[in-house]
Amino acid sequence: MVNPERLRPDRRLGIPIVRIAQLVPRDALASLHSSSGGLTSAEAERRRNEYGLNRIERIRGEPLWRQLAREFVHFFALVLWLAAAMAFFAEYHDPGQGMATLGAAIVGVILINGSFSFWQAYRAERAMAALTRLLPQQVTVLRDGRATRLHAEQLVPGDVVLVQEGDSVPADCRLLEADGLRVSLATLTGESLAQTRTPEASEAADRLSAPNLLLAGTTAVAGHGRALVFATGMHTEFGKIARLTQTGSDGHSPLQREIIHLSRQLALLAMAIGVLFFLLGQALGLPLWGNLIFAIGIIVANVPEGLLPSVTLALAMATQRMARQNALIRHLPAVEALGAATVICTDKTGTLTLNHMTVRQLFVAGEALDLPLPSDRLERCRPLLDVARHCHSLREVSEGSRLSVLGDPMEVALVELGRQARDDAGHATRIHEFAFDTTRRRMSTVHDLAEGRLLYCKGAPEVLLPLCSQALTADGVQPLDEAQRERLRQAQEDMAARGLRVLALAWRRVGGEALRVELESELIHAGLVGIEDPPRAEVPEAIRRCRGAGIQVIMLTGDHPVTASAIAREIGLVTGAAPRVISGDDLRHLSESQLQFALDAPEVLFARVTADQKLLVVEALQRKGQVVAVTGDGVNDAPALKRADIGIAMGIGGTDVAREAADMVLLDDNFASIVKAVEEGRAVYANIRKFLTYILSSNIPELVPYLAFVVLPIPLPLTIIQILAVDLGTDMLPALALGAERPDPQCMQRPPRPRAERLLSWPLLARAYLFLGPLEALAGMSLFFLVLAWGGWEYGTPLPRLDPLYLQATGACLAAIVVMQVANLLACRSPTESLLKSGVDGNPLGGNPLLLWGIACELLLIAAIIYTPLGQSLFGTAALPAEAWLAMLPFALGLLLLEEARKGWMRRRRRRDAAPVADGG
Ligand code: ADP
Ligand code: MG
Repeated sequence: MVNPERLRPDRRLGIPIVRIAQLVPRDALASLHSSSGGLTSAEAERRRNEYGLNRIERIRGEPLWRQLAREFVHFFALVLWLAAAMAFFAEYHDPGQGMATLGAAIVGVILINGSFSFWQAYRAERAMAALTRLLPQQVTVLRDGRATRLHAEQLVPGDVVLVQEGDSVPADCRLLEADGLRVSLATLTGESLAQTRTPEASEAADRLSAPNLLLAGTTAVAGHGRALVFATGMHTEFGKIARLTQTGSDGHSPLQREIIHLSRQLALLAMAIGVLFFLLGQALGLPLWGNLIFAIGIIVANVPEGLLPSVTLALAMATQRMARQNALIRHLPAVEALGAATVICTDKTGTLTLNHMTVRQLFVAGEALDLPLPSDRLERCRPLLDVARHCHSLREVSEGSRLSVLGDPMEVALVELGRQARDDAGHATRIHEFAFDTTRRRMSTVHDLAEGRLLYCKGAPEVLLPLCSQALTADGVQPLDEAQRERLRQAQEDMAARGLRVLALAWRRVGGEALRVELESELIHAGLVGIEDPPRAEVPEAIRRCRGAGIQVIMLTGDHPVTASAIAREIGLVTGAAPRVISGDDLRHLSESQLQFALDAPEVLFARVTADQKLLVVEALQRKGQVVAVTGDGVNDAPALKRADIGIAMGIGGTDVAREAADMVLLDDNFASIVKAVEEGRAVYANIRKFLTYILSSNIPELVPYLAFVVLPIPLPLTIIQILAVDLGTDMLPALALGAERPDPQCMQRPPRPRAERLLSWPLLARAYLFLGPLEALAGMSLFFLVLAWGGWEYGTPLPRLDPLYLQATGACLAAIVVMQVANLLACRSPTESLLKSGVDGNPLGGNPLLLWGIACELLLIAAIIYTPLGQSLFGTAALPAEAWLAMLPFALGLLLLEEARKGWMRRRRRRDAAPVADGG
């Protein structure tokens, strides 16, 4: 499977890295002219100039010109080309009927429409690409002998990087040192079972199977290590695969698929109507060519070919608005899923709380001590302070010129606490670490000190207590009896009830025995630490909004049930007297259906759960038909993130693995940002419906004139070119403006949209086709007859095609439709809210400057069509008197007033329907 070509020396490097797997670490370093302390900054800079940035170049699936060209040859465009060709043929066959102008107009329409679609698709793609740059991958690399945080793009061959659990491997590396390091190769091989990686030289046949190589794009799922970069960017295995497989197509989201489906249905409908009209015309004995082209015009006018690009752009613009709210969308479908979300499962630490940890209270030797510590207690607390100070997995790195600490803020707080004891740094040489994980809920470190070898351990109190056989008391270290255990449990409860996160600290002596995790036993309990992590200020309001929006919020935390409930109450997540608190242990004993029943409780929270139990909860909720958003940050959260309808990872606190599994990344780790994203998700859906209503309404005034022409002895009130002018000219920008509407304040006061709800619902169709459309048709037809009557036309007399009165009358019909569409644009801002409320501060255009632009363009276009010689000759119109415009106004006002009445009625009906169930959600 592996191409032998890939095993040859990389000639660009000029160094025989081929068999880098066969070398011992020292020789591997030498082969790349590097050292165990990494490269110097100067050398790294030089190599970056030579080898370029470490990134996978995006290879365009399709060049831009091909994408542009495609807009002109898809099915509907071809129908249009055919229509144009027929028009030209008709002109040739039967000159003087204005068929050439029609042909030219149709070609113009194809060009304008195609370019517009292309522009929209291009902008959407650019918007998505810009998002990925918002969250660059960070790596820890040794430069000038110091750990430094850098953008992964800056890596060069010869760099030494530190890799740890949750990191995605930034380049192809040779491992130099490893501790329990396991990697998942899923991205390269599809194999999901993690594999152990060790630094020893190996004779493996290829890079993929070499146990001492870390390949770019794979992820570290456990342990940590130090590795030498030997290939970057497009020279990595991943880069080579990317070169082969990049196609750029992400597939369509459910909404986009629905739009495609919808477009097809509408197109079929249009064709059916076209054919019907053609047959009708034939039956009435109309000339064949004109009739045929007319039928094609009908089809063209009603085929919504611009729908998909408009929808895609609306989605992409929503992702940009979300990014401004700190929610980074990784997959477009997540935007719509967010809008339909019914449950948000959220972590506590860092998401609901600030992750600003401050130690508030200690419990040492049977006594609760508030901070700052009384000086007479300092001595007694010393063992606890020593553990606090040394038992951590923090790393110091330089970021630019500044030194900073990388790791859990809780540990930072503990180290700070420990520094109070004494300042003699480095008295303890750390020789080993048993890492923390959410299942063990504890960690320890082993240190060599002057007085011997010690193990420091910290973790959840109920985990540590059974591992302790002695405890620190006022009279020194004593065996731990049941009464003392009970006192410790009580002390933990007391601190937890204040919303503090409680940690137990312990230590023991170890001899020369092997360093195995079994050493975490027979510990001496040093005391408890109560740490405060205040809730984020925005959270209570965000939770209130969720409640109003019919979205259930469920907290899932690894913390203690009492702490969890206290925080939940503080932020308003729990208001009832007895919320259902389910612990990880309970969860293990619940059957699937029992869990589903438990989730029916109005207020549920999960405490002391492990990351993998999140998946169970997500699945249970989904079985109940919920649309689930779930947050996560660690490696173990990845399955739940993938499984959820919307997986949400943390941008600051999370791991690369979680981010890659997620649909959305929170740039500020803040729960409130999820709620804002939900709001945007709802807005997108509402916006798409707004512009659908707007676009569909104008189909009726385009059809009615033809019907009237067929059944009444009158000239044709609206010509094909004029229809095209509306559909593919004046309507385009206003529709775009509706797609960019901001979320309306009401949208978070309604329950989530049912997942099965279709975009094109009956009420929407009825509003467009049976209400707004007919009103517009009435205006168009009235103006047509009015202008004819002003010119002294008598009912039933035919008018020549170029008669000035006829030109004026059709122009008036067209202008009336456009004016009605302006009013309709305002009406479409909300399906139920009064126009005065859907704007801002009573200004019906408020809150969306694009609307003003849309209307301005619409009016300018129609003015150009009616008053410029070119417009007049292309679209078959003549200048209108001012009275004609005045005559349109009552119709436009009428539409607005009738809409207001209809909306008022809808609101009343909704209130009436909602009343009996108001307390249910
Ligand atoms: P959370 O949901 O609050 O992020 P975690 O799953 O991270 O909870 O942690 C669960 C529990 O494990 C904590 O309540 C604490 O008792 C313990 N714990 C967390 N971090 C550490 C650590 N670095 N060292 C030791 N114990 C820890
Ligand atoms: Mg945590």
